[in-house]
Amino acid sequence: MSRDRRKECAHCGACLTVCPTYRATGREDRAPRGRLRIIELGLAGKAAERGLASCLLCGACEEACSRGLDITTRIAAAGKGHGGLAPRMLAAAAESDAARNALAPLARLAARAAQVLPPESGLRLKLGLPAAAALRTAKTEHAENGIAIFSGCLARHLVQEIETATAAMERFCHGREPAIPGEQTCCGLAAWSAGRFSRARELAKRNIEVFARAQTILTPCASCFHQLRSYPELLGDDRQWRDRAADFAARVEPFSRRFTTPAAIAALAGNLVPLPEKKTCLWHDPCHLRFRHGIITEPRRLLKLVPGLELREFGRGPRCCGMGGAFGLTFPELSAKIIAPALAELAELEVSTVITSCSGCFLQWQRHRQSSGHRFEVLHPALLIADLLPR
Ligand code: SF4
Ligand code: SF4
Repeated sequence: MSRDRRKECAHCGACLTVCPTYRATGREDRAPRGRLRIIELGLAGKAAERGLASCLLCGACEEACSRGLDITTRIAAAGKGHGGLAPRMLAAAAESDAARNALAPLARLAARAAQVLPPESGLRLKLGLPAAAALRTAKTEHAENGIAIFSGCLARHLVQEIETATAAMERFCHGREPAIPGEQTCCGLAAWSAGRFSRARELAKRNIEVFARAQTILTPCASCFHQLRSYPELLGDDRQWRDRAADFAARVEPFSRRFTTPAAIAALAGNLVPLPEKKTCLWHDPCHLRFRHGIITEPRRLLKLVPGLELREFGRGPRCCGMGGAFGLTFPELSAKIIAPALAELAELEVSTVITSCSGCFLQWQRHRQSSGHRFEVLHPALLIADLLPR
């Protein structure tokens, strides 16, 4: 049987310059090309496993790849899908000094998280908190309304103002009262990234049930959006669920698209209360939005509607924050090395506010806010804009 060379790595190196882990280390086994080589040669052992487990699954390489290879799917399947190093590292990391140091700036949040996050929340994995083995049983509650909000664990449990602000924007821009189903659960991205595929499927099925009757499912979290849209692949082999998963995914809308429709722009433009003081802001592109869904212009378009907000951009292209699911916990030093040049550029640009819509990125910027010499605040766009809606 002849091999289809278009599906093989050409070793051209086009992906190297965009890969955050390669840029931070210069190591081939921390690069897309090297990771594909590990898979192709079937290499085993700790070094090979670490090479695969240290992938952020950010997708930047896929956008740059000259052959359009599905690099992250291959890495996830080889390194994480077989119960490889990631789950074991995660368990060990949660107990390590390095992880404790990495999480120290978030200690207060983590302490609160330990109390309020439900056992199945993916944020528990990201914060190194113990998670439950079984998903809680719950009576299924359907979102009956036309529009329902999938909040994500950050907005549902830790920074609930994001959930409230998203609902306020929906009312103002579209005149609809959104449902916020209490029985929604974690999107499952953290479980998937840690190789816990069956848990990710279990969580997906719960969410599909809960949102079965919602016409539109709006989510303020970029990573949740990506994961919810991935349910058809996650459940592709499940004959009972795959059609429902496809139907569910087609109804999911990301925050910045929902609020840059012609109706939303008409409602917001010229009607927002000006900021009391000028803000120099940077929109941080979550990798899951930028590289997986090409959502780049919408968030910027939305932010430009805010009077008194000046948007600044990284001069050398998009920068990963280094969070990547539980990567910040399993590879804390590499994670800090990845965000370091972004923090330096933030200071150069004199940015006062980093705005992002991904729970992981939000936590990562918060975590490094204190270690950076430059002072800045971190906001979700809903928090910024809902405050400026006319009363
Ligand atoms: S997904 Fe991101 S970290 Fe992983 S190989 Fe591709 S660019 Fe590098
Ligand atoms: S860009 Fe694609 S084909 Fe070229 S080295 Fe990277 S993974 Fe291989």
